[in-house]
Amino acid sequence: MNIILLGPPGCGKGTQGALLAKELGAPRVSTGDLLRAAVKDGTPLGKKAKEYMDKGLLVPDEVVLGLIEEVLARPEARKGVLMDGFPRTTKQAEAVGELLAKRGTQVDAALSLEVDDGELVRRMEGRAAEQGRADDTPDAFKLRLKVYREQTAPLIAYYRERGKLKEVAGTGTVEEIARAVRKALGI
Ligand code: AMP
Repeated sequence: MNIILLGPPGCGKGTQGALLAKELGAPRVSTGDLLRAAVKDGTPLGKKAKEYMDKGLLVPDEVVLGLIEEVLARPEARKGVLMDGFPRTTKQAEAVGELLAKRGTQVDAALSLEVDDGELVRRMEGRAAEQGRADDTPDAFKLRLKVYREQTAPLIAYYRERGKLKEVAGTGTVEEIARAVRKALGI
């Protein structure tokens, strides 16, 4: 199964993605993790990405598309992949659809985890204290939320129109949400 995890920053995509990956035996791939690794290694891609990431802006599609192509071409992605943090724009969604179609597969489900903004900010404050991410400062986080609403949230309608959208409330305990996720996916 190829599953897209959609939802605002702090909605629990990472946590639920890791659980779901274990359950399905499919790799979870996060473009955010890959980009952070590229920044840490100081690669040309990382250098380009850093200025956007630190501000809370999306890295431009032309920088990210090559990364997505590489991820979907990996042998371990052949049986299905959990996409955490991509696609993030309509252009990326179209690219993912085309790359999967070339391999004779498709997006099976887009899982949207719904959490309201007040709760997201509270969670971000907890995560900032734990992980010290540069983009978890209050201002950067607010911008990331705005960017999500403007550039990524339209994917909810995109996948709904294609009959792929599964909406799950992202509040409750981790186990409660995981149960709701499995139910929505029918697994
Ligand atoms: P994340 O860990 O998924 O929240 O991503 C952290 C940051 O990495 C985002 O705020 C963006 O700057 C960048 N990023 C991650 N994935 C993408 C993507 N698919 N397209 C553009 N930027 C991305």
